[in-house]
Formats: sequence, C-alpha cells, structure tokens
Amino acid sequence: MAQYTPMIQQYLKIKSAHRDAFLFFRLGDFYEMFFEDATRASQLLEITLTSREGGTSERIPMCGVPHHSAANYIKQLVESGHKVAICEQVEDPKSAKGVVKREVIQIITPGTVMDHNLLKETENNFIAAVSYNAEEYSIVLNDLSTGELKGYVFKGDTSMLIQELQAMHAREVIMSSELYEQVAETVRMRYQIVSSIQDQNEVPDPFQHLVQENERELLKKACGRLFHYLLHTQKRSLEHLQPLSIQHINEFMKLDSFSKRNLELVETNRSKGKKGSLLWLLDRTVTGMGSRRLKQWIEQPLLVPALIEQRLNVVEELIQEFFVREELRDKLKRVYDLERLAGKVSFGNITARDLIQLKQTLGSVPGIKQTLSQLSNPYSKDLADKMDSHEELYHYLESSLHDDPPLSIKEGGLIKDGYHDELDTYRDASVNGKAWIASLEQRERSETGIKSLKIGYNRIFGYFIEVTRSNLSLIPEGRYERKQTLANAERFVTPDLKEKERLILEAEEKMVSLEYELFLQVREHVKSYIQSLQQLAKQLSEIDVLQAFAVVSEEQRYVKPVISADNRVAIANGRHPVVEKVMDAQEYVPNDIYLNNERSMLLITGPNMAGKSTYMRQLALTSVMMQIGCFVPADDAELPLFDQIFTRIGAADDLVGGQSTFMVEMLETRYALNKATEQSLILLDEIGRGTSTYDGMALAQSIVEFIHDHIGAKTLFSTHYHELTVLETQLSSLKNVYVSAIEEQGRLVFLHKVIDGQADKSFGIHVAQLAELPSAVIERAKFILEEFESDERSPKKAANKADTQLSLFIEENAADNISKKKHEKSEVEEFLKTMNLLEMTPLDAMNALFHLQKKVK
Ligand code: ADP
Ligand code: MG
Repeated sequence: MAQYTPMIQQYLKIKSAHRDAFLFFRLGDFYEMFFEDATRASQLLEITLTSREGGTSERIPMCGVPHHSAANYIKQLVESGHKVAICEQVEDPKSAKGVVKREVIQIITPGTVMDHNLLKETENNFIAAVSYNAEEYSIVLNDLSTGELKGYVFKGDTSMLIQELQAMHAREVIMSSELYEQVAETVRMRYQIVSSIQDQNEVPDPFQHLVQENERELLKKACGRLFHYLLHTQKRSLEHLQPLSIQHINEFMKLDSFSKRNLELVETNRSKGKKGSLLWLLDRTVTGMGSRRLKQWIEQPLLVPALIEQRLNVVEELIQEFFVREELRDKLKRVYDLERLAGKVSFGNITARDLIQLKQTLGSVPGIKQTLSQLSNPYSKDLADKMDSHEELYHYLESSLHDDPPLSIKEGGLIKDGYHDELDTYRDASVNGKAWIASLEQRERSETGIKSLKIGYNRIFGYFIEVTRSNLSLIPEGRYERKQTLANAERFVTPDLKEKERLILEAEEKMVSLEYELFLQVREHVKSYIQSLQQLAKQLSEIDVLQAFAVVSEEQRYVKPVISADNRVAIANGRHPVVEKVMDAQEYVPNDIYLNNERSMLLITGPNMAGKSTYMRQLALTSVMMQIGCFVPADDAELPLFDQIFTRIGAADDLVGGQSTFMVEMLETRYALNKATEQSLILLDEIGRGTSTYDGMALAQSIVEFIHDHIGAKTLFSTHYHELTVLETQLSSLKNVYVSAIEEQGRLVFLHKVIDGQADKSFGIHVAQLAELPSAVIERAKFILEEFESDERSPKKAANKADTQLSLFIEENAADNISKKKHEKSEVEEFLKTMNLLEMTPLDAMNALFHLQKKVK
C-alpha cells in the first residue's frame, strides 16, 4: 500500500469497504475507476481504458465518465445488475491540505434506485430482505421510491424461498452471509435477482416506529436487515418509509410463481412483455400509481367476500354512470405520481417542478371528491369522504412557488413575490437597478447624439456602454472611463453605472442564496405531510383501478359475478378474456363450466389445438378477475372464492433456469400437491407429457387419484392419454369432457366447444390422414388401434387403478409405438404375426427384436 501515491491509497481504502460495487471516484469533472473496476467497466460501458501513474512501476488501469453524463452510465450498470458507489469530494479542493477528502455519499443498487430515469412509471421497484430460523422464513418487501413496506412469514425450505422471491418480482434481495452462500448464485442465474449481504438485523432507532413492538421476531429481523442496508447505501433519512404491513396468508389468494407465469397474469410467457397478459387487458388506468396498484391487485386477489363486493359495487355503479366515470377519468389524468413525489420529498431530491406537480395534484383532489360523491354506493362515498385534499399545503405551495420554476434549484426564480419580505427587497433593488440602467441608455443616447450607443452586460466585465468606433469622436471629453477595446467598438463605464452594477449584483447574489434557503424550508415543511400524502396516493390509485375495471368491463361485456356460498362454479358462456380480446370477438366460442362437490374434477380430452388449455385458463382468470373485484367474461357467473390457484403445464420449458423440463414439471406438481386445499383450484395441463408414455400416464393417473381422494380441490386436468377417461367410472367426482372438432371438406375444423363425454380416440389417426401421411402408415395405425381396443391387456385396461405395474414393452421411438405389458409367450407370437416387415427400417427391426428377446429371456 505504502508505495502508492496518497490519492491511490485513499482510493484503495474506500474501495476496500465497497468491494461489491463499482466505485465512481470523483476527480475534478470526472468519475474515475481504477484497477479491476476500470477493466470491467470499460468493457461493460464500452469506454476507453487508459492508465495512470500510481507510485509503483506498473501503471494503474483507469477509465472515467464525465460527471454530468454519469447518470446514463450508472443506469447501464445498475440495469445489468451491478451496484455503483458514488464517491464525492467532500471538501473544497482549494482549502484542502494534501489529498482532498472524499466519501461515498450513496450506493445505487438495482433494488434502491430513486432516479426517475431508472424507474418504470407503471412498475414498482422492489427490494426484499430475508430472515429465517429452523423452520420459517420471513420476507419483507419495500419499494424505496414509494415507501411501501410489507412482510410475511412462511414455513418452507430454500427452494420455496427462491420461488417466493421470484413471485414478488424483487430486483434485489438482502440476506445474511450464511444464506448468501446457499442461494445467491441460483437466484442470480435463474431469475436475475441481485443478492446483497447484510448481517446486522436489529431494527435501528430511527426506524423503530415502523415495526410494532410485539411484532414477530423473525419479521423484525428482516426489517432490521433491510433498514441497515438502506442506511448503508442511501446515507440519508428515509422518512417516507411506511409502517410495516403484515400480509396474512389467508387474506389473499395465493398464487405461486409457476401459476403467475403460466396464467400470464402480468407478463406473457414467451416475450416476457406486458402485452398479452391479464394486466395488459385490464390496464385502463390513467395514472402510473393506478397501473402499479393494479399489478399489485392482480398478484394478490382478495379472499374476503365483503371486500370483493365493495369493489364490485363501485365497478357496477361506474359502468352505469358513464358521465361520472368519464369526469373521474378526466380529473385523474391531471394527477401526478403522488406516491413517488412523496418519496422524493423524503429523499431530499425533490425539485421545485416536482413540488408544482404536487400542488397541481392536490388542486385536482376537491374535484375528484366531488365527482366521487355523486355515486351512491357506500364504499366510494367513504373514499370520497376520507380523501384529504390538503388545502393548507396547497395554499402554502401556491403562495410560495412559481408555477413554472427552472429545473435547477440553485439559480433562483423559484419563489413568488410577496412570499418573503427580504427577498422582495432584493428583487426590488435588482429590478430598480435594471430599470435605471435602461433609462441610462436613453439618456446617454440623447445627450451624446449617438443613436447606436447601447448598454450591455457580460459576466467578466459587468455592465458597459458600447460605442462604435466611428462614433467615438462624439463622446464629450471625460464623460466615460474606457474599459475594453473591441475590433470596431469601445466599451466604457461611469462611476454611477459601476455603483448600480454593484447594487444589482449584490442583490442578485443575495436573492439566489436566499431563494435556495427558502426553497429548502418549503421542502422541509412538505416533509411533515408525507404520511398523509401517501394515504391520498393510495386512495387515488384505488379509484383509478376501479374506473379501469369499469371501462374494460363495459367494453368487453363482462358481468358482475356472484360469490358462491356452496362451493359451486357455474359459468354460462364463459370466455378467456385475453384470447377473446386478441382475436375477433365474433370468432370466440364461449363455453360453460359447471363444477360442484359431486363434479369437482374434469378430465379434458380433445385433439391438439382444440382449446383445452384455453378452457382451463379461462376458469383461473375468471376467478382471479372476480377476486380482484372486476367483472368477468361470461353471460352469467357464480364462483367460490379460491384460496390458491395452481397451474401446472406438462414439459414446461425452463431452459433458462437450467433444469430438465420433466424435473421442473414434477417439482411444480409436488408443490401443488403439498399446498392445495379443498378450496383451491388446480389446473393440470397435460401433466406427464415430459416422459415416456406409460411412465407419464401412470404418473398422471396417480396424481388425479391423489387429488380426488386426498385433496378434493376443484381440478381441471387435460390429457392426451385417452386411456385415462376410464377413471370416470372409478372416481365419483371426476367427469369427462372433451373439446370437439369436425372434418369439413377434408379440413379439420376446431369447434372449440367443450362437451360432456370423451373425444374420439382415433382422432390422431384422422388428423394424420388429413395431413396426407402415406396410406400404408394410416392403415397400419388403424390396425394397431383395433388391436389395442380388442386386446385384453390393452393400455386402456392397464390404466386400471389397481394395476400400477406399468412398463415399456417397446420404446417410444420404435416403428409403430406399440406398447404392451410384459409376460406370456403368446404375446410375443401375436406380435411377430402382426409385424409388417416390408414397412420397417432395419433399425426398427433391430429394436423390435431386442425387446422380443427381452420378453422371453
Ligand atoms: P389445446 O390446449 O387443446 O392444444 P389451446 O387451448 O392451446 O389448445 O388452443 C389453441 C388455439 O385455439 C388458441 O390459441 C386459440 O387461438 C384457439 N381457441 C382456443 N379456444 C378457443 C375458443 N373457445 N374460441 C375460439 N378459439 C379458441
Ligand atoms: Mg394445450
């Protein structure tokens, strides 16, 4: 260390405390990076890598970004999951003895960004903190930009923890170094969530009031961890943090990350974009706050009937009262992002322009209250009553700040006349002085007769009288003092002008610094309103979401659902809201869904592309929509409140996650089977598809039986194993339905209509025929199918509940995909007889022979 120059020593010392961040080291007008930071940053940011002397024989790698354009580079780094520590000069270089003192003033991390450039208007930016003991985990979740803080506790293991973190869309997660060792890498690789270590976990004093004294220890620890991390990274007071709200597990419908993904609630599976998701469909909000609230609602449908009814009633009335709704929308459009403005107030980076937005927002609240009060349902009345339009604050801002202030808060022009006497005096002095100067120009022109004489100003020479060279002779002797000579003019001053200039400049200087001081006072004053502003933000965003529901519901002809008291699903002409929206409404085929305690499981068969998956999701989305308080896509709908929805898809692709698809399928299923209750909805879409036929079929059957016998959850199970339809005769609450398709002029036409019963087994062959596979193949397939159906030991029989010994006879890739149970020679003979040698490839023949031999060995 000693061999380095003092500045590099200082750098290394600071860097050693911020190993996990890029250290932006302020040097004059630049932020410089050194050593490894420099090499990595130059690649990531595509900036030139240079080097400098550092006291040793080797030069030190270095790269830098200008401080005025640093925001962009910080953004790039943070968005790609890195942290940036901003290290500033904290003393005036002129008065510094030796190396200028420097300190890290803020660490910007993916979960703690406050800069509006880095935040998406319609999305929360969540940071999570985790604590755990032998059997439980606690997670607290915070959006630093809005101050929201919520937490909950659950039983589970690390794999569940990871699922939870993903389901919450956390950008960053804070944990102990011990847990970091175990999960950080997985969380980063699989879900691009940045992990950070914070071992301190007692709640620091300034934050005590956010957590109830008798709160559970585990939650307190997670909060403590979060607060320490925020203090460490932000290094400022965080007064906008809201008190911890505890999420009780049975307050909201639980949707795990697989289901959220599979149902495409907030983003689509394929493109990961919002378009095509339920959020996209429902997002007719007019404010960023509303949009964020909607996303939260969709991920947390309610479980309390009264709360759901409240929302549904507002939506109903807003649909009926078109004009009230339109008025409300208009007025809401004038509302700025109050939630984030409150965050900025606390963070200390609010500008005068932001405060004007705050004022304008407050200004539109009385109108919103008035409009809302025209509705007659108790919930919106109550909302209107409780909304505080903060008149006092409004008038305070109105009297203090200019409506169109400059961006900078350090150059004056912020504070209104009449707000502060001293400021007014300076302003008068400056204005009077300028008026005097303007009149001086007139006077000098007429007295000297020089028409082109003018008075100008520049920063270096101040005010001057300018006379062109050709007119110099007209100036009376001794009238002016010479100040500056230009190519074709001379500049002069007079003692009076100099005196006025001094007064003006002095007044302006005082004005600017006084204005800045006054502005800081205004800021401080607004701080005391943070909590009630956050409350107002919540109310406004809620109204925004409810009006959005009304708009979509009317446009898409949704109906008000009824919450079933006896655990019944009765949906007449239901639709999949998103599929319906993206296709022509006329083309969408509505379907009924009936479920009750005697008919709690549906086994759905039908050809590929018939509409099985769509039908299943239709039910899930309809119940999510009801439970967030929106109308639903049907002619008539009655649904129970589902406590959880599980959606599992056979052979889901999770290549990014780096797990085998079948393993993922089974992991997801395990989770569902462990967690589901009688009040849950389970959708199993072709489960078992990810493995070989009999294997998959056996699993599918035992899963269905397990749910039927031990869980009793409402279940829709689609399968391409027609053999499973026999289960209807064995499981009392399971019914077969199928999605129909017909052939029309040699073309397969999907009717998308779901009908009780089971699909035609030979449909696959039929489709193959339409696709004009060689006729020999078709004929052969038909023959084999008949064989299966007549055979005692056919797969259909094998699906019998008691017979669990299923195994492969011939591998799936063998010629005809013939599968039979083992034992008995006659089976071998039978097979030999039916073999069509002319249509077998040599490899097929080898395979067949191999298996035959295995049978008789
Ligand atoms: P499956 O799961 O049976 O293979 P999907 O549910 O994926 O079939 O549906 C395939 C396509 O059929 C969908 O993408 C959609 O365009 C269309 N479709 C499904 N259900 C309907 C319906 N009820 N009305 C109109 N088109 C539908
Ligand atoms: Mg499907």
